[in-house]
Amino acid sequence: MELSELRQVLPADEPAYRAEQLYRAIYRQKVGELVQISSLPAKIRTELSQNAELGLPEVDQVYNSTDGTRRYLLRLADNRTVETVLMPEEDRDTVCISSQVGCPVDCKFCMTALMGLERSLTAGEIVGQVLFVARDNGLLVDNRRFNIVMMGMGEPLLNLPNVLKATRILCDPNAVGMSERRITVSTSGIIPKIEELGKQAVRPKLAISLNASTEESRQELMPITRKWHLKDLIEACRAYPLREWEKLTFEYVLLGGVNDSDADARRVVQLLAHLDCKVNLIALNPGPGIPYLTPDPERVASFQNIVKRAMPCFIRRPRGLDIYAACGQLKRNTA
Ligand code: SAH
Ligand code: SF4
Repeated sequence: MELSELRQVLPADEPAYRAEQLYRAIYRQKVGELVQISSLPAKIRTELSQNAELGLPEVDQVYNSTDGTRRYLLRLADNRTVETVLMPEEDRDTVCISSQVGCPVDCKFCMTALMGLERSLTAGEIVGQVLFVARDNGLLVDNRRFNIVMMGMGEPLLNLPNVLKATRILCDPNAVGMSERRITVSTSGIIPKIEELGKQAVRPKLAISLNASTEESRQELMPITRKWHLKDLIEACRAYPLREWEKLTFEYVLLGGVNDSDADARRVVQLLAHLDCKVNLIALNPGPGIPYLTPDPERVASFQNIVKRAMPCFIRRPRGLDIYAACGQLKRNTA
């Protein structure tokens, strides 16, 4: 809940500062239970506990990778489970959170697609993943110690109101207090929602999963392109109101022999010319049910070299491959 909603659940005759006390206790002090909010009179706490619930998701399973990556299977109030991944890095950790249970978009290279959509997450469940992982790893004291990527299960822009509400709570200095510069949302390219995102005062940085260099190939790999065409997606990116510190990110999953040729790389450069952007290449992370191959490192390097001449281009190092925690592998696999 945002501050305005907390005002609604408090008894109407309580002074306005009560909602602020509650808001700060939940998101800034990050208390785990209502009884711990000693600044609130006991009577209010009791009343609150009758019409609201405070808590974090519960751990169902934790998988630890040899590279330090940790994948959590978290249990929600309705017993559905969702995955959240912590990737420790030298300077700053990255927490990868989910926006939906499963995903309704059927990208052919992604294991999450095989689940279909069970439901969207609430804003509380999105923020809850961050607070849970931060608490479990001693990151709560200092928000600057981690970045957030909304790149877990689900298509975040098909749950935009909750993703935006969660972002506002994460970024409000009176709440979790993270910087918008350290939160990134990734989309498969839902064009009208990209436009809506651009209008928000508080919003994460935007990453777009490009994954193909022609309309035809993108339609094959990402059937959602049949509805939202590549040409219009690039146009929406051109029109997107970047903040002065911001660049667009394009992600490109390399599938051996499918979209990883030098000609593909040159077409990517042409498509993205005139956009203020960088490119992250991801060599396919394989898994059961995925009918593609991971390209050789030489192929990946050749692709990168071509794109790099025109714009910043990086290879995303796979994290947690051995525990099914890497991009495209989140399908509640037991590893
Ligand atoms: N649904 C959003 C965010 C989650 S997916 C989106 O698609 O953008 C995060 C990234 O993982 C996307 O860029 C996606 O293209 C990529 N990805 C999906 N399956 C993959 C796989 N098997 N190997 C490597 N990357 C994959
Ligand atoms: Fe959904 Fe993203 Fe996977 Fe596509 S790549 S199926 S949009 S999670």
